[in-house]
Amino acid sequence: MGKKKWLLSLAVAILLAPTLPFAQAVLPDSVAVTQTVAAKSKATSKSTVVSAIKQTPDLNPTAKVRHFSQATYAKYGALFDKNYNVEKMSPYSVFGDAQEAYVYTSSPILKRYMYAAMQNWNKALGTKVFNLGTKSHKTITVKWKYNGASEEWDGMYQDNSLWINKDDFDNVNYVPNTYQAALNKEMPGAGNPNSSTYKQQYINYWIAIITHELGHSLGLDHSPYTTDIMFSDSETAGPDFKYTWKRAKVDGSYAEFKNSLSQRDINRAKLTKLLGYW
Ligand SMILES: [Zn+2]
Repeated sequence: MGKKKWLLSLAVAILLAPTLPFAQAVLPDSVAVTQTVAAKSKATSKSTVVSAIKQTPDLNPTAKVRHFSQATYAKYGALFDKNYNVEKMSPYSVFGDAQEAYVYTSSPILKRYMYAAMQNWNKALGTKVFNLGTKSHKTITVKWKYNGASEEWDGMYQDNSLWINKDDFDNVNYVPNTYQAALNKEMPGAGNPNSSTYKQQYINYWIAIITHELGHSLGLDHSPYTTDIMFSDSETAGPDFKYTWKRAKVDGSYAEFKNSLSQRDINRAKLTKLLGYW
């Protein structure tokens, strides 16, 4: 609560104070409490929600649409899904009542990348949504898949499993080739896998991929903007997508090569919490 609002509440409380005993005498406490709860959980009208959504930038649920009641998110979930490309992608058991996931891998190599990706979200959201799991206590498992270098995906999330394509991970040309295809220029350090420049690009890329997949676990689907960790260069719109895109919206650098979450990524994750997806 901002300072001005707090002062306003105080002023209202002082003004109302003398009338309270009278109000209580008329209304029994139980009735007053019931009415307060009903008012808080009431859904806002559809036109109010639609107009608030229209005031936000493309696919970016800013604070303008993150102040509604639980009942509003429950009633108009489909509207939020479609306008911000979000949907529930994890079973309830992944985040549970505590709204925290326990992420585990048996691979010591993957663990370093996985942990850095978890920290990306934890820091951005200001909460420990992703915790290190153990073999016996885990809700998301990160594992390798030998999927062939020709396959379309390098990372994937489904239900409570997150896969990294080991064939791509082991291919020294994979990150430079992906960089070249996206930016149409050579990746720094591309020809020298032993250089610190190459290593930094490689590490950033794979942490970004796991960060992207963890984003799916939170209920974030793809974005056309290159500055988003949830970027994908094309998408055929299903019912939960705002629109179809065939090419990237290049609005700055590529998050996947910088390993950085955008404000749009973060706002969308804040929205999916309100929608109950994590
Ligand atoms: Zn994806």
